[in-house]
Amino acid sequence: MKAWVLHDINDFRLDNIEEPVLHDGEVLVEVKAAGICGSDIPRVYQNGTYSFPLIPGHEFSGVVAKAGKAVDPGWIGKRVGIFPLIPCRACGPCRKEQYEMCRHYSYLGSRTDGGFAEYAAVPAENLIILPDNVTFAEAAMLEPMAVAVHAMRRAAPDPADIVAVCGLGTIGLLLIMFLQEAGVKNILAIGNKGFQKQMLEKLGLPGDAWCDSREQNPGQWLRERTEGAGADVFFECVGKNETLTWAVDHTAPGGRVMLVGNPFSDMNLEKAVYWKILRNQLTVTGTWNSSFSFPETEPSIRMAERMEDASLTKQRLSKQGVSDEERRYIQDAGENCPPDDWQYVLERLAQKRVSPSCLITHRFPMDELEQGFHIMRDKTEDYIKIMGIAGK
Ligand SMILES: [Zn+2]
Ligand SMILES: [Zn+2]
Repeated sequence: MKAWVLHDINDFRLDNIEEPVLHDGEVLVEVKAAGICGSDIPRVYQNGTYSFPLIPGHEFSGVVAKAGKAVDPGWIGKRVGIFPLIPCRACGPCRKEQYEMCRHYSYLGSRTDGGFAEYAAVPAENLIILPDNVTFAEAAMLEPMAVAVHAMRRAAPDPADIVAVCGLGTIGLLLIMFLQEAGVKNILAIGNKGFQKQMLEKLGLPGDAWCDSREQNPGQWLRERTEGAGADVFFECVGKNETLTWAVDHTAPGGRVMLVGNPFSDMNLEKAVYWKILRNQLTVTGTWNSSFSFPETEPSIRMAERMEDASLTKQRLSKQGVSDEERRYIQDAGENCPPDDWQYVLERLAQKRVSPSCLITHRFPMDELEQGFHIMRDKTEDYIKIMGIAGK
């Protein structure tokens, strides 16, 4: 098969190699779409990875082509999305089913071979079945969408809150998309590229909700829009000292700062800014990756049941003559079983309540994927999500 293989730092080539050998519990996925993550650029060109050679790519989707030992052959032919983290299932966080914090995980596309290839070996447990109306390109964005949703749900903004999002890359924009879907009306977006304004317009955010930090002082801009108080919830999606300072400095008393951006360097706060965490009793929180449940039952079956549950709940609630008591009972039942981030995203994709494909700025045939890497490395063009598409 053809695969993009990282042989060493800055030595990334399209090779002809053997198809992956399946271990017990794995399936062979024929890759249909694979997105390039911002983290793939330093992985390929600067820092390398845990071992070479490696096929990168952790945002991908496809069709199950083969089932390995101990896998239900019913998977063959299924359209799937892929949770790339393979947890140890033994450490403290894993025992609490908080797999995103696993101490000894493997990861498709960084610690083991990923999706920039014709085929990838994936544990069947890491598959999530795709409803027919979800495209492969959308499904290749499940991972960054789940990351954005994880940050959002950890901060749990109220629809009435003023929410600031600083940093308008893929995660920042997806976060805005899901905040809107969750009913948050007052979103203030801080960016630094003219192109971001077009992207925000595609997401339906009014032009005056965007601050270009090259031309305006974001602090003053935020104060003017929040009666001087600052945002109730502030998502920092950049990871620089300057933006961390804005976040702490311009979050309202009692508000929440959610740290999303991976740090570029050591992060320092001036004393006067640090004081604000104390005096304003800010909740400063981190977020990492996304939640995914590894059910005891077959994931496909569990997912189908969940989708059915969701539509049943909706039907029941929309019926005339549902008593208040019954309504509360139905809603409580739903809340007691919150979906994981991946299910949360997939339900909204299937119901067409979110539409992330407007953020795909470039699609390349998988054989020409390197062009996408160069655009992201050299920043020769504006981009948000760049994707390799099989057979294009
Ligand atoms: Zn990523
Ligand atoms: Zn673990």
